[in-house]
Parts: sequence; C-alpha cells; structure tokens
Amino acid sequence: MPISTPARISFPLDIPQVDVLATKHTQDGKFIITVESRRDTTQCGVCKQEIACNYGHGQTVRLRHLPILGQETTIEIRPRRAQCPTCLHHPTTTQTLKWYDQRSPHTKAYDRYLMKLLIGSTVADVSLKENLGYDAVVGALERQVEEEVNWEQVQNLGSIGIDEVAHKKGRQSYRAVLTARQDDGTVLILAVLKDRKKRR
Ligand SMILES: [Zn+2]
Repeated sequence: MPISTPARISFPLDIPQVDVLATKHTQDGKFIITVESRRDTTQCGVCKQEIACNYGHGQTVRLRHLPILGQETTIEIRPRRAQCPTCLHHPTTTQTLKWYDQRSPHTKAYDRYLMKLLIGSTVADVSLKENLGYDAVVGALERQVEEEVNWEQVQNLGSIGIDEVAHKKGRQSYRAVLTARQDDGTVLILAVLKDRKKRR
C-alpha cells in the first residue's frame, strides 16, 4: 500500500436496528451516512396494532447526529411506511424508530450531546460552535424538558450538578439542567426542568 494512503478505521454505528447503505465524506468536511431500518413492522396510528411495512418509503429525513472526529455528521433515512389492513379506509402510517423523534431534526443522541455542551455555556455559544441555528439548540432543550429519568442508567448520585441555561434571547427565562457525574467520568443528563426563575 502506498505510504500516502491515509490510515482507515471502521467502527460500529451506535444506532439500533439499521443497516448502513452508504457513507459519504463531503468536500466541506461533513459526513453523511445513509441508513435503512431493519424493522419490518410498525404500530398502526389508529388501532395501535403491529402491522407490516408494505407501503414503500416516505421522504428522506435528515438528522444531525454526533460528530465523527469533530466533523458534522448527518444521518439520512427514508422511513418505511405501512398500511393497516383492518382499519376503515386502510390508513397509512410512517414507521417510528426509538433513536429519533419524527418532529425533530436531530437524533436523540445528538440532543443529549447538545445538553452536555450547554452545561456552563449559553445557547448562543453552542449554536455557534455546532454551526446550528439558535432555535435548533432551543428545540433540543425543549425536547428534554420533563423527559422521564431512566434511573436504571444512573449508578451514582454522588455528584449532582444544576446548570441554568437562558433559553430565550434577552429574557430572564431559564431552564435548569440536572446532571449526575458517573464513576467512569461520563455525565448523565437527569432532567431539564421548566421555567426556573433567576434569583436576584
Ligand atoms: Zn389500524
């Protein structure tokens, strides 16, 4: 192999139940990873029974994901669609997957990553550093508000942190981000609480 060939690594993409169709590294240094779902059923939006995804695909969804080697990374997926065989008028449903929310432009892992960046920082700073709109950072914060804490993940409540993040420009409106530092040094987001008023 010529000496000029760059060293390569491969590693698992930590997203459950997908296959990688393509990986692209763009000229401006961004990664675009195209995936497809391995699951072939979803819940009917009307009767809630599990039905087969037999109705093609929806529009491509682009989701900002955790950076790879410090470079912006986007996951692209065309969600599978299903048609209910039993409901009246056979309504169609788009498959939902655990690792992203249908109304969100980010994967859930990226939203959690943004919460960590917000610790000791401001929405404007994170927006600048991540090359994201101000509203995209606020959106991530809002999606975490009163999300249930997964206590099984928490090994250690010894070191709890509370950080206030101003979430509206120029207003005295704050969210409180609760974190716990784990034995291995990782920081878990426990909760994001609403409308904490800044003490004067
Ligand atoms: Zn149905």
